[in-house]
Amino acid sequence: MTLTIAVYGKGGIGKSTTSCNISTALAKRGKKVLQIGCDPKHDSTFTLTGFLIPTIIDTLQERDFHYEDIWPEDVIYKGYAGVDCVEAGGPPAGAGCGGYVVGETVKLLKELNAFDEYDVILFDVLGDVVCGGFAAPLNYADYCLIVTDNGFDALFAANRIAASVREKARTHTLRLAGLIGNRTSKRDLIDKYIEAVPMPVLEILPLIEDIRVSRVKGKTLFEMTETDPSLEYVCNYYLNIADQLLALPEGVIPNDAQDRELFTLLSDF
Ligand code: ADP
Ligand code: MG
Repeated sequence: MTLTIAVYGKGGIGKSTTSCNISTALAKRGKKVLQIGCDPKHDSTFTLTGFLIPTIIDTLQERDFHYEDIWPEDVIYKGYAGVDCVEAGGPPAGAGCGGYVVGETVKLLKELNAFDEYDVILFDVLGDVVCGGFAAPLNYADYCLIVTDNGFDALFAANRIAASVREKARTHTLRLAGLIGNRTSKRDLIDKYIEAVPMPVLEILPLIEDIRVSRVKGKTLFEMTETDPSLEYVCNYYLNIADQLLALPEGVIPNDAQDRELFTLLSDF
């Protein structure tokens, strides 16, 4: 049985950082992990591999879109702690549809039977737009995990994602595992939101300078801890999230708030 997790959230909120470190935490717990970047930004796995790996779209273009000419080793790259890495990539800027690329990536990996050999598969997906394509990973996921901060925009995106989970849960066994608060020590707006739309909060990670630096270094916090043991406390946040997921939490099928309701709820006037 493969545990499949889809991480969603607003652009720039910390999905890829969080995903890479959760993937590593799961690998440290002895799991065989595949991380699939589904953001046209295609840097999801950067801190795992230390470079921008060729995307599925790059590879397809090279082979004139002959899907049958693509092998797992063409698109799956080995990252830190043995985590396997894939990047969907995106269409040229201003042309094509990013969501379509995500849908095709998922289909291709299924056809390659790449899904069956992992204990955990983690999708890292942009959550500003949850169109059909960007929602495609939810068709395969056991859990959705939402990264947010304590601000209006990220919670607004979170609510859109919650609505998509609710929709997919009609026909799939998908559950929302909950929220991860990131780059924030305050949680008043997060708490207001979960009062209206009940869901678990798995962890709250503050702004940590070394997490910002990890992006520049192209290393996970676990790799950085090898040379700086004082960073172990940061790894513990991610290990805590990984352990909660491995315990197969009940999760929720969220009821989403209406847009106007959310504006009132999260405003201070
Ligand atoms: P996303 O994948 O959601 O677009 P990223 O994971 O690329 O976002 O994160 C954006 C930037 O924020 C990166 O430079 C990353 O290092 C930084 N970052 C993420 N989480 C934290 C945090 N808790 N503290 C400090 N910086 C963070
Ligand atoms: Mg990202």
